[in-house]
Amino acid sequence: MAVKFQTVAGMKDILPEESPLWQKVEQVLRDTVSSYGYSEVRMPVVESTGLFVRSIGEVTDVVEKEMYTFDDNGDSLSLRPEGTAGCVRACIEHGIIHNQERRLWYTGPMFRHERPQKGRYREFHQFGVEVFGIGTAEMDAEIILLTARIWKKFGISDRLTLELNSLGSSEERAEYRKALVAYLQEHQDALDEDSKRRMHTNPLRVLDTKNEDVKKILENAPKLSDCFGPETKEHFDRLKSILDANGISYRINERLVRGLDYYNRTVFEWVTDALGAQGTVCGGGRYDGLVEQLGGNPSPAVGFAIGLERFVLLLQAMGYQDVDSPVDVFFCAQGDEAVKRSFVIAENLRSEIPGLKLMLNCSGGNFKKQFKRADKSAAAYALVLGESELEAGVVGIKNLRQESEQNNVAISEIAAELKKLLGA
Ligand code: ATP
Ligand code: MG
Repeated sequence: MAVKFQTVAGMKDILPEESPLWQKVEQVLRDTVSSYGYSEVRMPVVESTGLFVRSIGEVTDVVEKEMYTFDDNGDSLSLRPEGTAGCVRACIEHGIIHNQERRLWYTGPMFRHERPQKGRYREFHQFGVEVFGIGTAEMDAEIILLTARIWKKFGISDRLTLELNSLGSSEERAEYRKALVAYLQEHQDALDEDSKRRMHTNPLRVLDTKNEDVKKILENAPKLSDCFGPETKEHFDRLKSILDANGISYRINERLVRGLDYYNRTVFEWVTDALGAQGTVCGGGRYDGLVEQLGGNPSPAVGFAIGLERFVLLLQAMGYQDVDSPVDVFFCAQGDEAVKRSFVIAENLRSEIPGLKLMLNCSGGNFKKQFKRADKSAAAYALVLGESELEAGVVGIKNLRQESEQNNVAISEIAAELKKLLGA
């Protein structure tokens, strides 16, 4: 017997039943970023491993255990686990953020070797935005408002909470790091292995733990905000005041440090309680040091990424329905001449009605069978062309979604009639 192949663990097919929702999501995302003047950038899926190690950070889940890395004739390459590193690499390589502002977006597959579960896959998709050359709180506010607008367009604003924090400057974090390490050392016995190791290599990452016992210990740990100087405070206050003025509510979460190393100042996540443990639908923040760290001229930067699988899961969980049917009109034709003519008419209609989704019966059969197919196609209308219609120079139009008689329309008038019916 032939071997039946299956998808690789943690990777998913998106089938025709689901793809209209994906298309809708992608369309709305593209339209939204366009409405803010952002431009698309497309990067390769494969980059040098060193790029991710240097940008994401050596002591992170992603780099320590989640990357798909392989040897390519002596070069270590990796499938991208996120988009920021490649985006920054591309911008530096092509000199497009040298002394200039850029508002960019990208979308595509990302790869992380994680334990697969609902909302956590080994291949997943992100839609991200990266802005270069603008270090203001206004810029942070703009990208947060942009994300809020996306939720609003889908009517899911009330299922997402904005969590907000500031990580301060690198100097402030260095000062905090000392205080935190001292505290963690006092409570060493209660820490798990990961936290013990990170306490020395990257103590802030301990705050990002998913271990409940460690979380408890952290409740009384010193706070990063105690180390903030006036500039950090001012930046954070300004951001909050713009959000306030726009009616965007948020929850300050001092434990929010985000998974990756490169963030500073503003960090945020949009989280939902509708997806269980994998509740973070969107994460982002400021990363002013990364461009220089990757060899570019210093440039402030801020961005976010939406996890599209989680976004789609959330929409499905909320029963979101507003997706287009793949077919508007199904064309039934019977009899040799009528079938031939139906092709000509169909081609004509596709030219005359932009966006029309017209499916032609290509499987033969009598009208009864063809109407069954028309029904199954989910089309709203059927066109009918048999010998009698052909003789009379008309095409029948039938509403498939309600009891109604066939309405015969002159062949020359069908385009106009369909436009009216479909509101095209
Ligand atoms: P988590 O804490 O859930 O592991 P993360 O901090 O690793 O998330 P980011 O690197 O910030 O995630 O990626 C941004 C977004 O991409 C996440 O908020 C999430 O929506 C999505 N995402 C990350 N990893 C996965 C994955 N393995 N499967 C599906 N979506 C993911
Ligand atoms: Mg993760």
